[in-house]
Amino acid sequence: MPNAQCPMPNAQCPITMKILVLNAGSSSQKSCFYELNDTLPDRPPQPLWEAKIDWTHREGAGELQVTTAAGHRFEEEIASDSRAGAIARMLETLWQGETQVINSLNEIDIVGHRVAPIHNPINLEGIEAIEKILGNVPQVAVFDTAFHSQLPPAAFVYPGPYEWLEEGIRRYGFHGISHQYCARRAAEILNRDSADLRLISCHLGNGCSLAAVRDGLSVDTTMGFTPLDGLMMGSRSGAIDPGIIIHLLRRSHFTAEELDNILNRNSGLKGISGVSSDMRLVAEAIANGNSRAQLALDIYIHRLRAGIGAMLASLGGLDALIFTAGVGENSAAVRAAVCEVFGFIGLRLDGEKNLNSPIDDDVAAVDSAVRVLVIHTQEDWEIARECWDISRR
Ligand code: ADP
Repeated sequence: MPNAQCPMPNAQCPITMKILVLNAGSSSQKSCFYELNDTLPDRPPQPLWEAKIDWTHREGAGELQVTTAAGHRFEEEIASDSRAGAIARMLETLWQGETQVINSLNEIDIVGHRVAPIHNPINLEGIEAIEKILGNVPQVAVFDTAFHSQLPPAAFVYPGPYEWLEEGIRRYGFHGISHQYCARRAAEILNRDSADLRLISCHLGNGCSLAAVRDGLSVDTTMGFTPLDGLMMGSRSGAIDPGIIIHLLRRSHFTAEELDNILNRNSGLKGISGVSSDMRLVAEAIANGNSRAQLALDIYIHRLRAGIGAMLASLGGLDALIFTAGVGENSAAVRAAVCEVFGFIGLRLDGEKNLNSPIDDDVAAVDSAVRVLVIHTQEDWEIARECWDISRR
């Protein structure tokens, strides 16, 4: 925070801001720590300290891993499945031991949390844990839906009964922190003003979504009321005929939990291939002649192309197509298969450049009418940036 004790007029004070970011998932708790000066760096800086607690290793225990920019590492099993206790232990490594980067937790000026409706209870646990440990430090909830808050009604209202809208059943969109970061990074890479760019951002990780971005705003997106809508994903189906649900309810009397489990955890690449939700393992199975894995990839590409086509129509043109997250950043084959069909709008990949999966670079051919960018998404940095912005208002 601006240094309250600084005797000099504010403009001359050396201002640093120490920002802690918490990113809670259902099976992990990630955190990182940045120290910023009074001007934001051009490029996302490396966090001084990063930590992750993984609860998938052993029942009732968390695996804590900490790394620092100075190259120190620390690992420990936390014998507690309480999020608050685990967060407290994780934060001790910020100011104690080999991974220490500050002298006391009081130095933390602001804490930013990634907040997403599916994780609301664990986000709240994190916010309460910080309140307990750090007292009344300012905390910022950065909503993963916020970037899509200006969607036009035609894009966010579902064509069910009008009452749905009054009950809050509408498209919210997700991956907003990632799409927002990528849209701004794209403008920087292209050296253009984001106010006159039409972009399609493809976030292809375990979850997958597209955003159509015009003038820096999201104008259409594929995820909806929940992250289950839209593209085929690692283990989620994406959009399916809602009549299938009615059919399954009538025929097999599934419970809501069973349907949730099928559509969120046993569909998508995993459901069709029977191999895995991990694209690398699906690709390996295809190489070994597995036809279900091939079908899974074919559906994934088919739906991705269709989704991009829909975003293209919402934008009425395209300056750049962005690929980000695990699959988007690493799979040259997925990028090539998607781009192949968009030759009719003058989009042409540089095949060799694409194969190298360069980070934060343009992999379109020189004469392509549309740029194709591979961007390493940095959601934690985007959250830190929001904290920095808010504290300056
Ligand atoms: P999340 O959505 O959970 O943040 P990530 O963005 O880390 O996930 O993406 C995870 C997915 O990225 C993995 O499941 C895997 O399918 C894919 N992935 C990672 N590396 C590669 C690679 N080299 N080639 C293809 N896919 C990859």
